[in-house]
Amino acid sequence: MRVHVIEAGRVRIKASQIVGRGHGLRRRLAPLFDAEWSDWLPVNAYAIEHRDGVILVDAGASAGLRRLPRWHPYFRSCVIFDIEPEEEAGPQLRALGFRSADVRRVVLTHLHVDHDGGLGSFPKSEVLVSPGELRRASGLAGRLRGYLPQRWPKAFDPKPLILDGGPYGPFRRSRRLTDDGAVVAVATPGHTQDHLSVIVEDGDEAVFIAGDASYNEAAMLAGAIDGVSGDEAQAGATLAAIRTFVAARPTIYLPSHDPDAARRLAGRRGPSQSIAACAAASRAAAAPADFGERISASSGKAASEISVINRKSLE
Ligand SMILES: [Zn+2]
Repeated sequence: MRVHVIEAGRVRIKASQIVGRGHGLRRRLAPLFDAEWSDWLPVNAYAIEHRDGVILVDAGASAGLRRLPRWHPYFRSCVIFDIEPEEEAGPQLRALGFRSADVRRVVLTHLHVDHDGGLGSFPKSEVLVSPGELRRASGLAGRLRGYLPQRWPKAFDPKPLILDGGPYGPFRRSRRLTDDGAVVAVATPGHTQDHLSVIVEDGDEAVFIAGDASYNEAAMLAGAIDGVSGDEAQAGATLAAIRTFVAARPTIYLPSHDPDAARRLAGRRGPSQSIAACAAASRAAAAPADFGERISASSGKAASEISVINRKSLE
């Protein structure tokens, strides 16, 4: 089974959104007053090439996000997107040889604007969303929370993804997404209350598509809660469950905004190998020998060239 990284745009956010500062409301308001911006981070969607059809996990950003509602303090002062129309998930999948009809399902980890932005390219795909997330994102209350329900495609009619398949490893709720059971959605509440992640099983190994469960692998390993999560205990428990999972099984951890995610997928480096790389670079090459045969990264050359041009033109 191949997993493709689709870098559907780039984003800059505040450092205190990536790793929260302080606690409670203070932590959640800190990004508004934080002068420290991140570098440009990828906005990754991930396409799983399964024999039943392509499963796209998250739809990435859209070119429309270059204009955001100025009345909302978060959009006004905490986030900047950079994306051309041809960098959206639909055009990039087409460049990889997939028609939008090949994308059987789009599974959304949550409905933040850089995860549902590219949905317009997939009018015929089955879109799966947690019912709780859909409730929180809808209507005026959703707009106040920083979602953009008014920009959902007219045909947006997601199916509820109910995680009623019982526990999966350290995760309390799950749901198998394919008949062979190799693609599993698991509850990873924290960043949003109904946030979910998607695990691709590949023999003894796993690919963990994490959405915004953490912004990068280091934050997950450190148990560092972001500046967004409402409930620190819940977010901390999710990060602990992910650490338990990756400790038990060779895992490639792929959050949406981790600058190293594509490299890890291409190089088949899980968290344990990453730690080894820090401790002893010479031993870091000891990745499972055949993993690359079945799982490989691919990101459009054209797209990465575009991103380099964009970055330069902004500097
Ligand atoms: Zn998010």
